[in-house]
Amino acid sequence: MIHFVGAGPGAPDLITLRGAKLLGEAGMIIYAGSLVNKELLALAKPGCPVYDSASMTLDEVVEKFREAEAAGVDTVRLHTGDPSIYGAIREQMDRLEALGIEYDVTPGVSSFCAAASAARAEYTLPGVSQTVIITRMEGRTPVPEKEKIRSLASHRASMVMFLSSGMVRELCAELIAGGYAPETKAAMVYKASWPEQRVIRSNLTELPAEAEKYGIKNTALIMVGDFLGDEYELSKLYDKHFSHGFRKASA
Ligand code: SAH
Repeated sequence: MIHFVGAGPGAPDLITLRGAKLLGEAGMIIYAGSLVNKELLALAKPGCPVYDSASMTLDEVVEKFREAEAAGVDTVRLHTGDPSIYGAIREQMDRLEALGIEYDVTPGVSSFCAAASAARAEYTLPGVSQTVIITRMEGRTPVPEKEKIRSLASHRASMVMFLSSGMVRELCAELIAGGYAPETKAAMVYKASWPEQRVIRSNLTELPAEAEKYGIKNTALIMVGDFLGDEYELSKLYDKHFSHGFRKASA
């Protein structure tokens, strides 16, 4: 059995209880070494073979899955954050399907959630935005034409950009070209939940220079939107004049 497990954003205590249990029981671990916190490997059984997938190809990873399965060993495939977000798990799952090897997936705390915690922000502020767009700037991996930053920006919803911190200047220019005012609040969160965590609060015009000042090129998210500003409406959920399934409005 292969267990895909979300490692969380970095802090070792942000893995789920289920993920930690699976790590402790695993007979083999393959982890995404470029981003997963190695402290999590302390949960492994003594002597458990551990492979870093950073230097491996898909074929090599699948070969390890096959070897483990043949030996009757349970494997944890540890991915950073939540495996469903830029985790490249679909291609692994399809190979396992083809080989008839059983697998399951355990979610993790994605870095876009940890970044909001670090910035003490709420993406879905009433009266501001009820939508979060998770995307990336096009780099060596192409992005479909209809999902270019410029067109997504036209919604002026809350946006979080992964894998784009090395292109922050181009990114901010595209966001402005797409419809955000240049003074729209923007932030960069570097290594959310790690000891090195840094939150840079700025606006679309000034964020690139700020990011360059700190030399941040990777392991960072860029967020933009009026949810980073000061104006919003109070929620209906806790409004004393608003009834819902769990509470009656007071007079
Ligand atoms: N599956 C992961 C994302 C993997 S893609 C998740 O759910 O978070 C890798 C990108 O995620 C990085 O380039 C960076 O943009 C972002 N990232 C991962 N961990 C991060 C962290 N702790 N803080 C900020 N950004 C992070």
